[in-house]
Amino acid sequence: MAMFEPGDEFLELAVALGGDQLTAKGKLKQLVNFTIDLLRAQTPKAPNHCYNFNSSKLVSMKDLQHKMGTWLNLRVYLNDLFGGADFPMETPIYTSDPAYFGALDNIIKKYDKEVQANYLVLRVIFFLKDILHLPPKAGRGSRREKPCFEKTLHFFGVAAVALYAEQVFKLSNKPKITTMAEHIKQQMIATLGDTPWLEARVKERLVEKARNLSFDLGYPDWITDASRLDDHYGKITVDGGDFLKTTLHAMEEMVRSSHTKNLTPTPQRIDVLHHGAMILDASTNTVFLTVNRFQPPVYGPNFPSSFVYGSLGVILGHEVTHAFDNMFVKWDENGLPLDIWTQKSDEEFTKRTECLVDQYNARTYYGVHLNGSLTLQENICDNNGVRLAFKAYKAHHAESSEPILPGLNLTDDQLFFLGFSQVFCLRGREGTNAKQVYTYHSPYPFRTNVSLANYEDFAKAFNCPVNSNMNPVKKCAVWE
Ligand SMILES: [Zn+2]
Repeated sequence: MAMFEPGDEFLELAVALGGDQLTAKGKLKQLVNFTIDLLRAQTPKAPNHCYNFNSSKLVSMKDLQHKMGTWLNLRVYLNDLFGGADFPMETPIYTSDPAYFGALDNIIKKYDKEVQANYLVLRVIFFLKDILHLPPKAGRGSRREKPCFEKTLHFFGVAAVALYAEQVFKLSNKPKITTMAEHIKQQMIATLGDTPWLEARVKERLVEKARNLSFDLGYPDWITDASRLDDHYGKITVDGGDFLKTTLHAMEEMVRSSHTKNLTPTPQRIDVLHHGAMILDASTNTVFLTVNRFQPPVYGPNFPSSFVYGSLGVILGHEVTHAFDNMFVKWDENGLPLDIWTQKSDEEFTKRTECLVDQYNARTYYGVHLNGSLTLQENICDNNGVRLAFKAYKAHHAESSEPILPGLNLTDDQLFFLGFSQVFCLRGREGTNAKQVYTYHSPYPFRTNVSLANYEDFAKAFNCPVNSNMNPVKKCAVWE
């Protein structure tokens, strides 16, 4: 399909904002070229997406300014971005791709100011398009509740979590979840300790990192204090009745405060709350899981343990494994390079990751091959997450003789795997589903099926015949 024909989202946006179709088409094409140049200037990641510390450098602000040329006054820009902080030109800046900033100078010179301005405006407009007073796109309807709701949640996430915590979540559930997280962490420690191909020095250090891993589950208590919540949002002007203006105020404050927070060495709990997230923060070796995750179908206080370990437990196991995925396994507890890796251990680790890469590359979804390199980091965590949770379940609950769920005719072990699969059992439209191939996570059916086909205990639980789809002879695992 030719670029920017009627029906194209960008073209319709430009026309809705007052451009005529022919001019808009021409300007959009310039923007595409500008964007392509920006992307090409980035240094490509290594093919296996392993983090390459050699490409990250501490560069002084002065040197970086020299590299970038004169189109931007870096000092003024950074000082403003960080809420008026005053950085001297000698300040070292951790730069992941120094070459990019050199290339940027030529790109900025190549395009005139109008293209650059249009690029910036389009980025902002694209973020706001759903709440601007634009004619509704055919087929999308005129419902604006959803984008308004999403933007509110995006900017006022902490307040939303506080409301949720107060009205829905029962604090009495927390000890149970914390215990499960600890059980899963113990399994990660044991897994690393039992890994035969890790050389002693590497193994000891990784076990230590696993021991130092901590959890931050639910929400911090202060958010239920209304006056502290008011203070938290104190800098945002809420323009009564003007959603757009309020959104712009909130955007400005969010950018400023998130940058300022990057200057502090403490965990940024607030950023996590904003995203309602489940993540590993590699710079503090902490797994965060916000309170919205603790609800059906993933969690219920009276759900059988087998099911909860399979659902919430696997989510925890996935996040714990991130500390030992292809990127963060080379980092220490503070997000700094771990210099204990030996060539032999590294080669074995890479061999195992390549097995996974090939395995996912071979699968197709809606006719498109999965990208095993792009999704490697998440695949490592999916595969090991289910193992950690299952081992933790077997170690702590298999003997607890909970009654079997009536009418389901499933053993506890089978129920565990059902709990896992249900996390990824979602309905989506075909087009939306097909797009999953281009993201860092494998499409949902593969997040379950490949991880389970690689796991002997799954085949055992369901008596899968050897060499069947879900029990192939060739299995891959980075951690076992
Ligand atoms: Zn992940």
